[in-house]
Amino acid sequence: MQDNNQQKNKENRTLELLRQSEAMLEGHFLLSSGRHSDRYFQCARLLQYPDRAAEALAPVVAALKEEIAAGRLAIDLVVGPAIGGIIVAYELARQLGLPALFTERDDTGAMTLRRGFEIQQGQRILIAEDVVTTGKSSEESAAVLEQLGGQVVALACVVDRRAPDAQVRWPIFPACKVSVANWDAADCALCKQQIPYVKPGSRKFIT
Ligand SMILES: [Zn+2]
Repeated sequence: MQDNNQQKNKENRTLELLRQSEAMLEGHFLLSSGRHSDRYFQCARLLQYPDRAAEALAPVVAALKEEIAAGRLAIDLVVGPAIGGIIVAYELARQLGLPALFTERDDTGAMTLRRGFEIQQGQRILIAEDVVTTGKSSEESAAVLEQLGGQVVALACVVDRRAPDAQVRWPIFPACKVSVANWDAADCALCKQQIPYVKPGSRKFIT
């Protein structure tokens, strides 16, 4: 119970930091998945403040260190899918004393590891994201990293806003969990009210 309360307080603090930074937007949004939603997270607005980034991710580091100390987890490096995962990976790696790399999309949209970054055979990798919605970009990065001989062991993020049925295949360490109303475009409650939508931070825009 004590642990649950502590976890809840930490999550509330992350939400508070997101609100303070205007990183949690409310309105009508077209997500990169094609679905519509009533909230959108622009974590870059939180991560622009290094002290807030450090504070928001501290509970994630604490949870990871607990698993590491218990012998249930080992991590050699942190990899964030660009752009959203770069600062998250860097800050987690800084607090964990590990290197941070990033994957990025090439001109065809395929996820790649470039810039001379290398993965050693068997290296245990923590994937770091700003927001996890479906886990798709983590999966795409994992495919690249595993092809290079790495082993993805866990996923960390600032906001876990997955639908209950969106599973990921690794243990997930979120700074906060938020449920967001979202709909198929054809079935969107906000479209039915003729509220225009905006398309923030989609993959096409983040290049
Ligand atoms: Zn809509």
